[in-house]
Amino acid sequence: MNLHEYQGKLLFAEYNLPVSKGEVIFDAKNAIDACNKIGGTKWVVKAQVHAGGRGKAGGVELIDSPDQAEVFAKKWLGQKLVTYQTDKDGQLVNSILIEECTNILKELYLSAVIDRDSQKIVFIGSSEGGVNIEEVARNTPEKIIYQGVEFKDQSLPEHAKNIANVLKLNDEQTNQFIPMIDNLLRLFVEKDLSLLEINPLVINSNGDLHCLDAKVNIDTNALFRQPELLEMHDETQEDPREAEAAKNDLSYVSLDGNIGCMVNGAGLAMGTMDTIKFFGGNPANFLDVGGTATQDRVAKAFKIILKDPNVKVVLVNIFGGIVRCDVIAKGIIAAIKEVDIKVPVVVRLEGNNADIGAKILSKANIKIESINNLSDAAKKAVELAK
Ligand code: GDP
Ligand code: MG
Repeated sequence: MNLHEYQGKLLFAEYNLPVSKGEVIFDAKNAIDACNKIGGTKWVVKAQVHAGGRGKAGGVELIDSPDQAEVFAKKWLGQKLVTYQTDKDGQLVNSILIEECTNILKELYLSAVIDRDSQKIVFIGSSEGGVNIEEVARNTPEKIIYQGVEFKDQSLPEHAKNIANVLKLNDEQTNQFIPMIDNLLRLFVEKDLSLLEINPLVINSNGDLHCLDAKVNIDTNALFRQPELLEMHDETQEDPREAEAAKNDLSYVSLDGNIGCMVNGAGLAMGTMDTIKFFGGNPANFLDVGGTATQDRVAKAFKIILKDPNVKVVLVNIFGGIVRCDVIAKGIIAAIKEVDIKVPVVVRLEGNNADIGAKILSKANIKIESINNLSDAAKKAVELAK
């Protein structure tokens, strides 16, 4: 789960990491008050979306009057911001962070991720931070340091110094950086993060380190023990179909093809998508209804697939292991009765009670192609999608 920058910065402040004085607004009429409350004569206004690349896309502006904050808020609130990290439709802006403007001497890059190979948290640093970090990674990878650390690492100050060297920090800045790494590591572990990125981490005009941006991703599997973070969830930043699926405990990822897939088990779902591709088709989604699929959940899965206007045909591929094919068959019928399905449905049921499932489908008097061989079913779906 991603956080907005302003939410990430609340966590940063909790962990004694230096962030700018700021106010978040959800309504343009609060922009001027927010600037006055922050004080000073220069501010930065930042559209809050779950995507980076805002600076280059006009979603971050430096301003020198509160009126300009109001103009910026009126322009962006309720609009979608398209950056090179979003899809073509962009992400809805429903809040704006206003901060006192920091004078920047140098922009650095710092992040932390979990590295499963080394089973460590890895800090990634570069002296070349800012909006072009992807180019640095591509063209001059030697300017980036990867430093693995462990929780309660005795050598953490040494590791921090290694990173500080690559960031070209002076002694004073290195002394600020060592506790900063310690705080970031505690934040990462205690809040169950899977990604933390500060780009840019800057040296301000006083020569001090300062966090200008905050990207925080929380491990979804740990959200049950992070209720205060779960409260920060902003559904508007997600694909509505994926959010709806998550609510129903279905794993759904929307894709840009036209063959809707309903499959049980992630491996079988991947295999089904590969088979579709093999026969020249394109899946519209990945969807795993899970091992304990009930009739109700299958019906919900169907509705989610059919909300995608690109879907020309639905391919159902169920292997009855734990889940029984007769249950799936009833779910399909229930869904077809509930939703006004206009596209053809190809069903392949195999395994536990497959024969009963097939009988139920054939007696139901609905238009489906029942094929009990995956290659033939996929071929049929590809043909129908054309
Ligand atoms: P991103 O483009 O989505 O990553 O948004 P950032 O928060 O990183 O902002 C983009 C760029 O705006 C930064 O790299 C800075 O160059 C600039 N910026 C952001 N905040 C400030 C600020 O307080 N002062 C100055 N001078 N520039 C800022
Ligand atoms: Mg940034």
